[in-house]
Amino acid sequence: MKLSDINSEPHRRYNILTNEWVLVSPHRTKRPWQGKVEAAFVDSGISYDPNCYLCPGNTRAGGHQNETYEHTYVFTNDFASLKPDVEVDGVFEEGLLKSAVEKGLCRVICFSPNHKLTLPLMDAQDIERVVRVWQREYLEMGALDYINYVQIFENKGDTMGCSNPHPHGQIWASRFIPDEPAKEHQTQTAYFEKHGRSLLADYLRQELETKERVVVENEHFVALVPFWAVWPYELIVISRAHLQHLGQFDESQIAAYADILKRLTIRYDNLFTTSFPYSAGIHQAPTDGKDNSGWHFHMHFYPPLLRSASVKKFMVGYEMLGNPQRDFTAEYSAGVLRDLSEVHYLHAS
Ligand code: ZN
Repeated sequence: MKLSDINSEPHRRYNILTNEWVLVSPHRTKRPWQGKVEAAFVDSGISYDPNCYLCPGNTRAGGHQNETYEHTYVFTNDFASLKPDVEVDGVFEEGLLKSAVEKGLCRVICFSPNHKLTLPLMDAQDIERVVRVWQREYLEMGALDYINYVQIFENKGDTMGCSNPHPHGQIWASRFIPDEPAKEHQTQTAYFEKHGRSLLADYLRQELETKERVVVENEHFVALVPFWAVWPYELIVISRAHLQHLGQFDESQIAAYADILKRLTIRYDNLFTTSFPYSAGIHQAPTDGKDNSGWHFHMHFYPPLLRSASVKKFMVGYEMLGNPQRDFTAEYSAGVLRDLSEVHYLHAS
């Protein structure tokens, strides 16, 4: 069968990275996208908020004072989920109950001193500074003997439970390899051992043949709606070169990465003329000193919005108990995102 035949019927799609499935039920949405527009986000005009714990010079809840930084600023999370100063030989096992003490580091990165900015509204040059901080932190934290995985992520918007609009992201670095990258480690390593090539390089090659799901691309990166997307406007950013991690990026790749981040997040904001919420994060090679040749650098964007700035997708019912499910296809989402302007609606005349 052809995809166009399958696409009008309920079907499952396979996620090559996690070895999991998503149920697609496109017959549930025969209606065309109506581009429902909410009252546009109003520019607050507040570039400094004296009550924000991330703004320059302000005092945080833990009593620490932020530097009066000009570009980016990194500090250790005052309420960290993982701490570096714990004994890691603590293991509990009793019958079927099992647990182990873990150690790690949690840091916060302010992307900009300007309280009202977000990645799509920042200059490409300033996004490059953020990428360089990610690169430095990955290498520095990864070099610690007790850190085997460095998870860089951004949780944006109050829909995602992020309480502070100040542009920032987080890094949680741990001794253990968390479940999501652990699944991708298995699939990528198995493919690399079998074929001698990167799983995502081969996937990207196939996607670029039709470009059906491609949204934005530049010299070094491609952003596309993955074939197995779960979230309505989910995206994956894949490096064209088989790079394992940020530490291998050269200057032109850093610039191209900043470029693709800016362009895709502008499209996101323009989709529902709102500051588009998402959880996004980088998946890259563990820092465990082992052979991670199969790893291919990529970034996931998981945005919750479905039909407007206020209508989000919930992962409930069948999705909690069976499989994730979506109504419109990845091809449809890619077409919608591709047709959007790369001029931010706040800057459009
Ligand atoms: Zn991944």
